[in-house]
Amino acid sequence: MGLLSLGTPYEWKDAAQYAAHVRKNGIEQLINIYNAHKDKKTTQLLWGDEVEYMVVKMDDKKKQALLSLNQELILDRLTAQEEKGLLNDDNVSFHPEYGRYMLEATPARPYTGDFDDILRVEGNMLARRRIAQSSMADREFPVTLTSYPRLGAPGQFTSPYYEPKGAASRSLFLPDEIINTHVRFPTLTANIRRRRGEKVAINIPVYKDEKTMEPFNDPTIPHERNLFPKEDAEAKTAALVDHIYMDSMGFGMGCSCLQITFQATDIHEARKLYDQLTPLTPILLALSASSPAYRGYLSDQDVRWNVISASVDDRRRSERGLEPLKEGEQFISKSRYDSIDRYIGEDLLEDKARAAHLNDTDIAINDELKNDLEKAGFDELLADHFGHLFIRDPIVVFSERLEQDNENDSDHFENIQSTNWQTMRFKPPPPNSSIGWRVEFRPMEIQITDFENAAFAIFVVLLTRVIISYNLSLLIPISLIDENMKQAHARNACREAKFWFKKDLSDVKSREYAKMSVDEIINGCDGFIGLVPLIRRYLHQMGLNVDTMCRLGRYLDLVSQRASGKLETNATWIRNFIRKHPDYKNDSVVSAEINYDLVAEVEKLSRGEDWNGIGKGILGGFEYEKE
Ligand code: ADP
Ligand code: MG
Ligand code: MG
Ligand code: MG
Ligand code: MG
Ligand code: MG
Repeated sequence: MGLLSLGTPYEWKDAAQYAAHVRKNGIEQLINIYNAHKDKKTTQLLWGDEVEYMVVKMDDKKKQALLSLNQELILDRLTAQEEKGLLNDDNVSFHPEYGRYMLEATPARPYTGDFDDILRVEGNMLARRRIAQSSMADREFPVTLTSYPRLGAPGQFTSPYYEPKGAASRSLFLPDEIINTHVRFPTLTANIRRRRGEKVAINIPVYKDEKTMEPFNDPTIPHERNLFPKEDAEAKTAALVDHIYMDSMGFGMGCSCLQITFQATDIHEARKLYDQLTPLTPILLALSASSPAYRGYLSDQDVRWNVISASVDDRRRSERGLEPLKEGEQFISKSRYDSIDRYIGEDLLEDKARAAHLNDTDIAINDELKNDLEKAGFDELLADHFGHLFIRDPIVVFSERLEQDNENDSDHFENIQSTNWQTMRFKPPPPNSSIGWRVEFRPMEIQITDFENAAFAIFVVLLTRVIISYNLSLLIPISLIDENMKQAHARNACREAKFWFKKDLSDVKSREYAKMSVDEIINGCDGFIGLVPLIRRYLHQMGLNVDTMCRLGRYLDLVSQRASGKLETNATWIRNFIRKHPDYKNDSVVSAEINYDLVAEVEKLSRGEDWNGIGKGILGGFEYEKE
């Protein structure tokens, strides 16, 4: 289980006073890490995934699937097993997450790049699910849904039941009891709200079905509540017509996702991988789409990204451009949870014109800290990168951890670094460790089955091998990636949207970009080879034996068929399941009964049942392989 600093967190007003202190020392810690590790080489590819689960409790009598708030109990059991060494052979490790109904699991030791190891991923994921399940109560299950359709819907959606009246979030819909009880999490929630000056406001277009209220003015928003007078009144202006309105961090951070971390051979390769994977982030977001419903309604989008982005948006109105800036403030174009803003690869240092062409958006930078970094020997791109991350305030500051040993600690650095939740993360080594420079790929949505999760993880890891072996360049201007991120949110984006993509991946300097569908990008089209064919070519050149080739092919086939439209995305499948349910009234409402049947089916699919039955749309033609 990951370690969380323990201590006494400051309320926002006090934390704010230490913001500059945390940033200054954080940058000093970064400089020390950089100096100690900048020449470090690691010979082996190491990598690992993170899978996030929601724990559901099935109430079969009432036909309700409730989010179980048993995280501590379950993690205590798992940690006890871990500490006794009982999970060593399974190579699994469990961690807490924001939602008190959530769990995260990773391999305990990262995988290598050996094909035998890559082929262990699915089995490892299945083992995690089995072990998680074994520590749960009767009728509790780990499910891998990205957004929980009835989170925050009227009535009971958690077990046990709590009324939404928490002081941390002040949400009209979500009780604070859904938040991880470690003091860091309610403090994050409250301080984001306090820094922002109002509650977060998430508005997602509602899916307009035949009988959806027109215009859609959500009747379930309790406008009359007067528990927290200032915040309770906000919904009147913050909730938009024709949108599903959400007002709390839990709606975003309570979503699940699939993340992949790679260790590069050195800082140079890490910078390159960070850049090269960036153009793939919106594409893989659209391809892995699996979240069509929020707060009891079908939405007109298929992915979670803008929900989670808005759910932790701590910018003040002035910083968002809605009011004049106050002294010391800068305009900030994006939430802390958003797509990245700058490429950092060293080849751009030599070609300023190309760098300006690719890094083509205006961004806020902490100039003072950028200057500190440059004085310490950071080049302009790396100084810009961290100078940009360090425009943010620390949200949680522990009084016991104000003074740190900057040679050996990295908490101040991590405080800012790890609350910049972006599509990619450039991870420097921890101080005094043998770990190398790593890069994390963060846009993907979690899939219902471990076969799918393994397929996406393996697809991305193989792509990194291809990019490095063939020295490809996928870079397109950041402004086009921002445009692609918006595109990726559209309903059916995987099948219907067009994304900017580089036409000739082998011509590093080419500035020819074309709008392509996910199918064209993944499977190829006239004049473009496609990413799956590229990987297949690479695997052939590696001279893999037939068995390995076949087994890897199963994963590539899934990705390919999702892209071609032969199979649906999880989002489309979930949407169809809801719309075809006998209890659905064509009014966009996901009832408790529909939710129960959906969760029951999703749980079955995760155990290998119904793949060629109800699950045919997403898994048809594939066989479940046991652990
Ligand atoms: P995060 O900070 O993103 O939550 P986690 O520690 O939860 O990070 O997980 C990151 C992933 O990186 C895990 O799958 C883990 O197995 C993997 N990992 C651990 N060590 C390394 C390493 N040296 N190189 C690459 N990946 C690693
Ligand atoms: Mg972590
Ligand atoms: Mg993690
Ligand atoms: Mg995490
Ligand atoms: Mg996580
Ligand atoms: Mg992660």
